Amino acid sequence: MTVMASKFSLAVYPWVYLAQYDDSGSWNGDYHEQEHRTPKEEAAMSAAEHEQLLVRRNWIDGLPLVNYTTQYGYGCFEGLKAFPQPDGGLRIFRPEENAKRMHRSMKGLRMPAIPEDMFVDGVVGSVARNAALGFAPPYDPAWETDNFLTADSVYIRPFSYSEAGIGLNIPKHPYVVVVTTPVGSYFDPDSASKAVTTDKVRATPGGTGWIKCDANYVLPTMVKYEVMAQGYMEAIFLDAREQTYIEEGSSSNIFFLLANGTLVTPSLSDTILPGITRTSVMQLAADRGVPVEERRISIDEVMSDAVEAFVTGTAAGLSYLESITHKGTEKVLRNREIGELTRDMLVELKGIQYGAVEDRHGWMTDVPKL
Ligand SMILES: *Cc1c(COP(=O)(O)O)cnc(C)c1O
Repeated sequence: MTVMASKFSLAVYPWVYLAQYDDSGSWNGDYHEQEHRTPKEEAAMSAAEHEQLLVRRNWIDGLPLVNYTTQYGYGCFEGLKAFPQPDGGLRIFRPEENAKRMHRSMKGLRMPAIPEDMFVDGVVGSVARNAALGFAPPYDPAWETDNFLTADSVYIRPFSYSEAGIGLNIPKHPYVVVVTTPVGSYFDPDSASKAVTTDKVRATPGGTGWIKCDANYVLPTMVKYEVMAQGYMEAIFLDAREQTYIEEGSSSNIFFLLANGTLVTPSLSDTILPGITRTSVMQLAADRGVPVEERRISIDEVMSDAVEAFVTGTAAGLSYLESITHKGTEKVLRNREIGELTRDMLVELKGIQYGAVEDRHGWMTDVPKL
């Protein structure tokens, strides 16, 4: 087999988990060891050679090319992270919550859904197998000096993938694949963190905005790149019917600290993705006695009353917004600096994830050493 070289290959780790719903109505999962050398040998390879290896590794023979996922975006996915710990181990943030959401997404798409315990096993097992080969970022004590704002982690991407087919159909024998890849921090203290509202619509009532399905990401991706070209970091989506109430960022939930000290995030509906970072941040804020409200919040209220704002998600973590622009008016928050509450929440969340702050809610799952 020859695969075409790509300049954009992903540094997927060697062990991949692959499960499928079979004819007898049960899920069968297995780990696949893709081509690799030792991490040290791979680091010593020429760029072109390594590129070829990564291209081959991001390819599993046997998965169908033409199917309901590749043709119509009929599928769903998850995103979660494993964090290096001071003791040399790795811990994963709330994988059982991602398992529940994956189950909900697959059910929501009317597909057979992977059992939650199997999902967690596949996630933990993939990270453990890769770490045993040395494929995991080592813990670096230097991260402690900036409260882990620039720390590395393992990004875990589970996703559904349909069996072969070309008509409009719902997958009856879906696969669930789990791949892992190293990621640095998204946090760049020097980058612009301006947000702007958009009149494009991410999710419509009665639609699929409440599940993490592939089809939801086309429009937000287009909008995010449009606003980035204008110097913004994030687009803020408003409700489809009235273009009045705040919904989300392009792939993140959103919070506002109001002048009266209340932290507000839009209440869940069928147009908002229930983020796990969102629930966790609400918990951490409540723990410190900050009043937290989940409710409808209009853009007008934000433009008049917000003093801090941030977006949350596994990939972005918790990113503050220095300003919000709506209909040509820019509202600057906290002099464009990260606000005190936002910073405290960020530091506490990262601290729990990297083992510097006690995991008092039992959010972290140990990855066993194999
Ligand atoms: C994944 C996602 C989020 C964040 O969810 P987390 O569980 O916190 O990672 C928020 N909004 C959308 C649209 C998403 O796809």
